[in-house]
Amino acid sequence: MFEQQAGTFAVDLFHRTKDGATELAGGALSTANGFFDQIDKGWRQTKDDLENAQYPEWLQRLLAKEESGGTGGSNGGGQGPEEPKKSGAGTAAAGASTAAAFGYSQEDDDNKEAEKIARDEQMMMLTKKMIEIRGLLQTVGQSDSLTLPSIVVIGSQSSGKSSVLEAIVGHEFLPKGHNMVTRRPIELTLVNTPEAHAEYGEFPALGLGKVTDFTQIQKTLTDLNLAVPVSDCVSDDPIQLRIYSPNVPDLSLIDLPGYIQVVGRDQPPELKEKISQLCEKYIRAPNVILAISAADVDLANSTALRASRRMDPRGERTIGVITKMDLVDAERGASLLSDKKYALRLGYVGVVCRVPANAGGSKLFTRGNGNITSAIAKNENAYFSSHPEFSPESHLDVGTKNLKKKLMHVLEQTMASSLKTTSEAIQRELAEATYEYKVQYNERPLSAESYLAESLDAFKHSFRGFTDQFGRQQVRELLKHELDQQVLNLLAQRYWNRPLEDLSVPLPETDPLTSLAKADPEGEDEIWKIKLDSSSASLTKLGVGRLATSVVANALHAHIDRLIANSRFAAHPFARQAITDASTSILKDLSYDIADELEICIKPYKYRIEVEDNEWTKGRENVTSVLKDELKVCEVAVKQLEDQVGGRKKVKDVMSFIDRVRSGQVVLEGDGVGGAGGFSSALLAKGREAVFLRDRVDVLKLRLLAVKSKQCATKKNKYHCPEVFLDAVADKLTTTADLFLDAELLSKFYYIFPRELDARLGRGLSQEEIDRFAKEDPKIKRHLDVVRRKELLEHVLKEMEGLRQLEQREKRVMSRRQGRGGEAREKGGWSLF
Ligand code: GDP
Ligand code: MG
Repeated sequence: MFEQQAGTFAVDLFHRTKDGATELAGGALSTANGFFDQIDKGWRQTKDDLENAQYPEWLQRLLAKEESGGTGGSNGGGQGPEEPKKSGAGTAAAGASTAAAFGYSQEDDDNKEAEKIARDEQMMMLTKKMIEIRGLLQTVGQSDSLTLPSIVVIGSQSSGKSSVLEAIVGHEFLPKGHNMVTRRPIELTLVNTPEAHAEYGEFPALGLGKVTDFTQIQKTLTDLNLAVPVSDCVSDDPIQLRIYSPNVPDLSLIDLPGYIQVVGRDQPPELKEKISQLCEKYIRAPNVILAISAADVDLANSTALRASRRMDPRGERTIGVITKMDLVDAERGASLLSDKKYALRLGYVGVVCRVPANAGGSKLFTRGNGNITSAIAKNENAYFSSHPEFSPESHLDVGTKNLKKKLMHVLEQTMASSLKTTSEAIQRELAEATYEYKVQYNERPLSAESYLAESLDAFKHSFRGFTDQFGRQQVRELLKHELDQQVLNLLAQRYWNRPLEDLSVPLPETDPLTSLAKADPEGEDEIWKIKLDSSSASLTKLGVGRLATSVVANALHAHIDRLIANSRFAAHPFARQAITDASTSILKDLSYDIADELEICIKPYKYRIEVEDNEWTKGRENVTSVLKDELKVCEVAVKQLEDQVGGRKKVKDVMSFIDRVRSGQVVLEGDGVGGAGGFSSALLAKGREAVFLRDRVDVLKLRLLAVKSKQCATKKNKYHCPEVFLDAVADKLTTTADLFLDAELLSKFYYIFPRELDARLGRGLSQEEIDRFAKEDPKIKRHLDVVRRKELLEHVLKEMEGLRQLEQREKRVMSRRQGRGGEAREKGGWSLF
């Protein structure tokens, strides 16, 4: 049976410790130190790589813990490097923390227990390490050969699978119900955390973080299971769940949907077959099969045993668990445990895993979130000790506590013996990854962080380039252009417009622009004075603060967009958004106050405007080119209109018709909406546009002549030259605004923006966000995957090398001890490689 072949390092250490001789114990302890030293060194060696590498959070945390807490669980053994010589009793006392994981009671600390604990401590370190490697391999994913074995739980529905798993964990956390609640495999990894008090679960794939409420875990599992469509009933996509607790042993278990006898009416007919296939996939070698059968069902009818026999015909890697021992009489129960018909090398364990309904009547054990270990242990003890059939002399394996221990021993051994094949598979994968890295990526190192950092640097560099190109001068040009347009609008509104709303005969103009040159604005033609003063007031009261600020802010924003489009970030929607958001929010924050402050700066101009001679000259020059530009715009528009309508002649015809109507030569019946004079209404509308443009061109030509004339050479005649005066005002406003915006908006934005980028795309991002960012670019994703895969595989190999060294050291110690005639066993140590 199992006990005979448990020839592990841990057991040997146990025997040596039992010798009690100082010298030998010292040897054992130094060996133990060597073990821990080695592991410790291993951590340190890889620590630096790890800090930058993309290992899963749970592993990072585990390693961080090892770092701060010495060698973690091993220190529980009181054998830290700084205290090399401690008595067995010391070991026991310090080891009590781990004892919880085995279900040893705290009061029970006689010497024998202490030795057992010391032995189990060592064993746990090894298993822990192998389970870690298993976890690492899970993250490498893909190939089936890249995995270490697990314990797979099978059994028919209601045989007690969930109850057994919950008894091992000490919490009720599995979905309950009659309607096939386990529809997906649950890959459960138990992680012993001897130092910690808290117990919690983690769904690595969901990123929910620590879940300390076990009813919440139950709910999440239920949801994940029920998400499988009823039409499918089962799915082979596993749910991964890790449970961290000082009360669980390091174990890797897989819960599967229960076998069913009869397919329900609302279930697909092939369901039975589907479940069988799913289970079959999981119970292949080297996995250990935990075959659950209820005591009140004949073993010959046990679906679990039948399935296990198919995949493990010689019964070498199956542990039989008989649940519900309390439901049959003790004699029958005992006979099931010593079953010869379905002999299993790893034997049978009988358990009573149901949490007693009144659970000691204590509040401590109320169902739900409390730990149920003690309640189950008490209940089992009460049952098994009251029946002589299960006395220690019977050598029957009973109780959840024993089951836990058995699982740990078996998993340790199975994992140890798989290390060789797994390590070979890893070497093959590593060779492939290394080749790809070399051929495809020329061994160019890359991490998501470095990719992000480089991209960000490049972007900030291009931004700095932009800031050199976009200063006060550029702001000035932008603003002047904007105000020129405003001036044109004002001129059009107040001087040039000849409204052409319909085809009626227009009223005679009261103050035709043609009369301006000869007018006397200070005298009887005061209207021209009023026109200019009100135009200039309109210009200064336009809300220049807000207008100028938003023109510059919009320009900055557009430039940032252009920079993004020309950067690596163009292919990264997430980063693109982050940068756009940064610039939007900074500009918005700055603009609010700046607009008001600028408005205050230009306030004096609202009341009084003095124009110097040189400003007048400059305004005259500038407005000439503005008017010329506007003239060009109109001429282009005329040309476009002619093209649209279908030729200059057609436009001319409709224009002359409209002219005749407006001069009263032709009298329209009605308003001409439905067309008139043989022209369609659409054509008439175009004709009106054309007339408008022609008139605008005439006015512009007229005013260009006026501006160029002698009259407009001096500021004295400002009322005759509103174009020049308004331009000079616009220029003054521009000068104030560009100075202010350069100092307030530009320099502040140039200072804050790169820092905001650092915050949003540098420091502010979690590891996951950085990964997500880098992987948005498929080329980078492929590159990163190769690098990461290679690093992980290298790391795993290093870990395995650590175990191998440990084994060799053990061998040396063994042969030394044999030379001295110590109580050594022939086949000591492990044979992992
Ligand atoms: P599963 O469908 O295989 O996961 O089985 P469950 O763990 O959900 O158990 C099915 C039923 O058997 C539940 O009502 C449990 O309370 C009950 N049960 C489980 N273990 C025991 C036991 O050891 N003794 C008794 N009497 N009932 C048990
Ligand atoms: Mg179940």
